[in-house]
Amino acid sequence: WDDHEGYYRVRVGETLDRRYSVFGFTGQGVFSNVVRARDAGSDNALVAIKIIRNNDLMRKTGMKELQMLKRLNEADKEDRFHCLRLRRDFEHKGHLCMVFEHLGMNLRELLQKYGRDVGLHLSAVHSYSKQLLLALRHLKKCQIIHSDIKPDNILVDENKTTLKLCDFGSALDISETSEGPTPYLVSRFYRAPEIILGVKVDYGIDLWSVAVTIFEIFTGKILFPGKTNNDMMKLFCELKGRFPKKVAKSGAFRQSYFDDQYNLLHVVKDKVTEKEKLVVLKNVTVERDLLRELIGKQQNLSPTEHRKVGQLRDLLDRALTLDPAKRIGIGEALRHAFIVESLNSA
Ligand code: ADP
Ligand code: MG
Repeated sequence: WDDHEGYYRVRVGETLDRRYSVFGFTGQGVFSNVVRARDAGSDNALVAIKIIRNNDLMRKTGMKELQMLKRLNEADKEDRFHCLRLRRDFEHKGHLCMVFEHLGMNLRELLQKYGRDVGLHLSAVHSYSKQLLLALRHLKKCQIIHSDIKPDNILVDENKTTLKLCDFGSALDISETSEGPTPYLVSRFYRAPEIILGVKVDYGIDLWSVAVTIFEIFTGKILFPGKTNNDMMKLFCELKGRFPKKVAKSGAFRQSYFDDQYNLLHVVKDKVTEKEKLVVLKNVTVERDLLRELIGKQQNLSPTEHRKVGQLRDLLDRALTLDPAKRIGIGEALRHAFIVESLNSA
């Protein structure tokens, strides 16, 4: 029943757990494949079923995901805080299966379909930003860090008005953050500097990922497309300037990224010999202009839209603060002018 990598070879028309008839596929991730099905046990309601790969590690991760989902859903009985709803779980031929409410596309797919290179309209970005921040506030209330926020793990409903955060397979209980640094937590483009540096992480890493995601859905461009953690550090400094010494000092991996004077070290590859060498970057200055990048090629912005983009710039700038202790908090972000002021008000 399984392919050699432990994915369940599911077929259209197949019935799972004697009630779910599979009619299509949505996505295949690292941990699972996800199918669309109708639930004969519940008025043929549409559902999505995440079928976890059959191997010990994936299963363990799946069990943890279940536990996180239950915690989040139970603390939000009225479904107001934009975390995916789990209906139930079952076992199928050795695979852990999770039954979810059925949603449409993820934001990566939405962007590819409607916003390639140009991004989504400000009004959509405004609404999605607020919903993402509400999800983060709820996670924090439940003492959970998602730690894999990116467009692939954010789903929208059929009419694209409501958004849900999904994929809690990497989620951490806040108590787990004292277990020592994990420099590959979160997908690289969305990874906060403190993760790379080996500073103890907090809820702020999710806010960082949300800010990077918001930039991407508004512009259609990846904010920090680094190929390595070292690349990422250089990209951060191009946007924000010199890395704060206090933070650099507290990182377990500081020696990989800084010299004795806390100048950034950059690894470059010789084009001919392919040998890597370290270059000390002494005079790091801000090279990028966030506002300019947000406006991009958009020419016909109304005065109100222009003001909103300015507010968005301010919010992103604060959420992308390199020092996690100085980064805007989730509550404060929810009260930020970009979020609270409507797009229609003059
Ligand atoms: P993985 O841990 O393998 O990445 P995800 O939970 O992220 O698994 O699911 C993989 C993909 O399946 C998502 O990116 C999304 O496109 C799709 N998907 C997941 N859950 C749903 C759902 N409830 N409705 C619709 N599509 C879904
Ligand atoms: Mg995923």
